[in-house]
Amino acid sequence: MRDFAYARAGTAESAAGALADPRTSVIAGGTELLNWFRLGIADADRVVDIGGLGALRGITQDGDELRIGALATLNEIGEHPLVIRTAGALASACLQAASAQIRNRATIGGNVLQRTRCPYFRAEEPLPWPCNKRDPGSGCASLAGRHERQAIVGWTRDCVAVQPSDPAVALAVLDAQADVLGPAGPRTIPMREFHLTQREAAEAGQPMRETRLEPGELITGYRLPASSDGQAYVKIRERASYEYAIVSAAAAVRLEGGPRRRRQGTARIAAARVALGSVAQRPWRLAAAEAELPGTPLAREALIPVIEQAMADAAPLPQNGFKVLMARNAAVRALLAAGGAR
Ligand SMILES: Cc1cc2nc3c(=O)[nH]c(=O)nc-3n(C[C@H](O)[C@H](O)[C@H](O)COP(=O)(O)OP(=O)(O)OC[C@H]3O[C@@H](n4cnc5c(N)ncnc54)[C@H](O)[C@@H]3O)c2cc1C
Repeated sequence: MRDFAYARAGTAESAAGALADPRTSVIAGGTELLNWFRLGIADADRVVDIGGLGALRGITQDGDELRIGALATLNEIGEHPLVIRTAGALASACLQAASAQIRNRATIGGNVLQRTRCPYFRAEEPLPWPCNKRDPGSGCASLAGRHERQAIVGWTRDCVAVQPSDPAVALAVLDAQADVLGPAGPRTIPMREFHLTQREAAEAGQPMRETRLEPGELITGYRLPASSDGQAYVKIRERASYEYAIVSAAAAVRLEGGPRRRRQGTARIAAARVALGSVAQRPWRLAAAEAELPGTPLAREALIPVIEQAMADAAPLPQNGFKVLMARNAAVRALLAAGGAR
């Protein structure tokens, strides 16, 4: 662990101002940043603690909009009645993340900025193998080595890592907006565009960029439509707790005809949104499926071809072809659960 100077921010504006110095980092719960210092992934000289900023806390409803402060912890969000009622996929994603202890510290602002769990990236310095994220231009050890947990869409030969956040998948499917404050003032970033795949970053001329957050910008909170659609978050992992997703899926579904048709087993989808997690460096909205789903029966055999068609461009690596089938099944399960099917 390296030494760094520590200060407490008095306001969100002063914290954003402090970020103008590239040697300064903000710290919220510290569950990621301190690990990065230990591993040599980050090396800020100065850390500004935003944990005391009351303006970045709180979960409220304003008309049709749910507002969640960046400092809300994953447990606060997952257990909040407003979130459970109007953004159930997000509540579920938060409660399926990490462990109870970590969820008490981990904030939703820091969560979407967590880095990949790729073991080649997460190694302690000095790094014994190439990693373009740690040492740009050195190569990608995962591509030639182990990559069964890596991307099946959006990757490049420079990097095959996935973004592992659970809440980010729910925020993307629920059309949340991140409110950010930076040198140019406040702005919003739609969460379905917040993260970048390696291919998108390369096309933008910054191959190792991971998000659309600009240097010096602070996330102050999120706004999302308070929804009455049925919602679900399905996380596939090797054990039931304290484990990252192999793949995950979030869905929101509105049915034609209401619960009576569901009881009769004749329910059809009126509108649906669905996104996959841990398949790319960003949550992967299945836009083609969303366009096809209205009118589709809420039944596994009807949903499978729609999801398969929407995933036709998946390009798995030699060791992770199984993730295509697993992601398809997660998406189908999330849609069925969101629609209330048993
Ligand atoms: C053992 C373990 C298991 C985990 N399992 C899961 C899991 O299953 N699913 C999952 O989704 N996550 C998981 N996580 C990740 C965890 O949820 C994140 O580490 C946590 O949410 C990060 O929030 P934080 O407040 O601790 O961030 P910090 O560590 O304080 O900060 C992380 C980064 O975000 C920046 N930052 C923080 N807040 C802001 C802000 N408001 N604006 C701008 N920048 C900001 C910091 O400068 C830093 O760069 C796990 C973490 C651990 C340690």
